[in-house]
Amino acid sequence: MERSYEVKPIVLGKIWRDGGALHYLTFYGQQGWLPVTMWYIKGADMPILVDTGGPAKEFPKYNPMPAEDIISFEKALAAEGLRPEDIGLVICTHLHYDHVLNIRKCINARMVVQKAELDFAQCPHPLFAHLYDTTMAKELPFETVEGDVELLAGIKLHHFGGHTPGSQAVAVRTHQGQAVISGMCTTQKNFDPPKGVAHTPLLACGIHVDPIQSYEAIVKIKSMADIILPNHDTRLLEGMK
Ligand SMILES: [Zn+2]
Repeated sequence: MERSYEVKPIVLGKIWRDGGALHYLTFYGQQGWLPVTMWYIKGADMPILVDTGGPAKEFPKYNPMPAEDIISFEKALAAEGLRPEDIGLVICTHLHYDHVLNIRKCINARMVVQKAELDFAQCPHPLFAHLYDTTMAKELPFETVEGDVELLAGIKLHHFGGHTPGSQAVAVRTHQGQAVISGMCTTQKNFDPPKGVAHTPLLACGIHVDPIQSYEAIVKIKSMADIILPNHDTRLLEGMK
């Protein structure tokens, strides 16, 4: 029988952003909280995380906008019966600080990222340099992949770029169908813009190295996913403090 998995979003904190930072040429001036999310994949031989988030106290170094923790990385894992050292694999959608800083604590994990992303994070363009921990990118034992790769049976990486050079989506076979973690800083509105607001059928990322690639990534994810999991889906904050 084909193996399938469960994907559980774990919200570690929240960051305050202008809508334009997430949605290309749209929602400027509409500010609000976005979740800092990691995804726990259950059902493999070892615990897998997609992204790790990071502690809010480290965020001002990268972006002065408000940031708050909701739960620590350690406590969130403990609620799943895990310690950071138990994590066997971390898949990095990209290496922006809000997605990766806790990875240092996963001392026994394989850390998988696209080569294009690691190369960029080690020597970022000045336009995006503030979003990366270049020391981490140089020092941690990242393992690189190039292009689309089936990493484990039923867990596939799709290199789309657009948001960053090496942004990758993670497609996971679940009992409910194919779930796709978007891998780019997006909300649900990128995939399903409210009528009358957007001038395009879908919305590219507000932050991007290539807006057309970013738009095409949204198109492809929409076509391949039964369940779309945007990294900063604001619905994940509903019901939380
Ligand atoms: Zn992000």
